[in-house]
Amino acid sequence: MPAVHARGQAEIPTKQGLDRSLSSRERGAVIPICEAIDMVLGAVEPMAAETVPIAEASGRTLALAVAADFDVPAFANSQMDGFALRTADIAQASDAAPVFLPLGETLGAGSMNEATLPPGTVFGIMTGAAMPEGADAVVPIEDVVERGSEVGFRALPKLGAFVRLAGEDMRSGEEVLGAGHLLRPADIGLLASLGHAEVRCQRRPRVAILGTGNELVALGTPLRRGQIHDSNAYTLAAAVQAVGAEAHPLGIVRDTREDLVRAFASAAEFDFVLSTGGVSVGQFDYVKEVMDQIGLVRRFWRVAQKPGKPLTFAVRGREALYFGLPGNPVSAMVCFELYVAPALRRALRQQAVHLPSALVEVGETIPTSTVMTELVRCRIATHGPVPSVVRTGTQSSGALRSLSLAECLVISPPGCERLKAGSEAQALLLRATGACVPTHPFGTA
Ligand code: AMP
Ligand code: MG
Repeated sequence: MPAVHARGQAEIPTKQGLDRSLSSRERGAVIPICEAIDMVLGAVEPMAAETVPIAEASGRTLALAVAADFDVPAFANSQMDGFALRTADIAQASDAAPVFLPLGETLGAGSMNEATLPPGTVFGIMTGAAMPEGADAVVPIEDVVERGSEVGFRALPKLGAFVRLAGEDMRSGEEVLGAGHLLRPADIGLLASLGHAEVRCQRRPRVAILGTGNELVALGTPLRRGQIHDSNAYTLAAAVQAVGAEAHPLGIVRDTREDLVRAFASAAEFDFVLSTGGVSVGQFDYVKEVMDQIGLVRRFWRVAQKPGKPLTFAVRGREALYFGLPGNPVSAMVCFELYVAPALRRALRQQAVHLPSALVEVGETIPTSTVMTELVRCRIATHGPVPSVVRTGTQSSGALRSLSLAECLVISPPGCERLKAGSEAQALLLRATGACVPTHPFGTA
């Protein structure tokens, strides 16, 4: 990853110092998670809308509701390859005494023929072909007896059998996708079936990513003693993209005030700026100080959570949100899931912004922080109505593997010194399959 260099004249407001409207508690005190989430979400401005070709719209968020302009299907059509008939013509049909009718024309899908079925006859009809006028049911080819140019029916079908009615999928005027909906592949097909080549989506937030630390080395450069690769930039870029925003890694920043000022200046045009490292109490942790120096309004520093306590949050007017994420890879990622991802989803006007949660059973006794909310990296050991969870390994905030293995973050509230084996707890699910039984529903491997 390239080193940071300023891109043109960046617009950073002049130094204003700390916002005096903030109480000392807000400026310096450790605040609870819910307060931090509220402050972050309260600072989010929704993105503007833009027009996107539907082929590029999967994973995007709809800015405007979409209504059907016409019935889908637009015409009644056959659901099977078979025969269209008037049920009154075969009222007496039975297995013992099939009723035979002469076969008229055969209608294929796409046939523009506005045929009328003469009483006392049947038409061949293929799946998707428009129903002929007068026909009121379709009998599948497998269920008839064919005899020369006649077709025999052994039972009276229900009225409307195997007929797809006009508007049975979507009615003209009906809202089929709501504003804020995250478009999935089936939705893209739905838009295509309604004839939309383009769709209005929320603009994707543009997210700058900066890794701070003298120890950081870009991938491809061999590590010398004391150095590590900048993994946070990659984790965060992947996480930003997973939310549906645009990730722009701007490189590694050295632990000097000057380099940090330059790096933040290079990020001035972005909607979100994520830095990692340099927000704790170490001698070279300048991020907070530099945020203040360049005129950002720092809203909080430190949240009563483990991991991720040194999280720093600042704003530049209503234009940009700055997250000073802790350097430890697990802390950075947990803070991303708790604060950054919900803020990005809110900017995209998505309905559900937080990680889903579920009740879990604690499978082993886990000692936890008594003063902070602890989020324990766990995996599901036993599936069931309430899954049983155990830790994925060391809970050190530097141990990324335990997060890579984790399916959920089990919540231990402040005041709780251990999660007892057999007790129930809330967990934030990191994977959609977190609480589900991972067996193949069709019984194969
Ligand atoms: P800091 O918050 O700067 O004190 O960093 C805390 C820990 O996180 C240190 O062990 C750093 O080496 C590590 N760290 C900081 N930034 C990164 C990064 N971009 N990728 C991986 N580890 C990091
Ligand atoms: Mg550092």
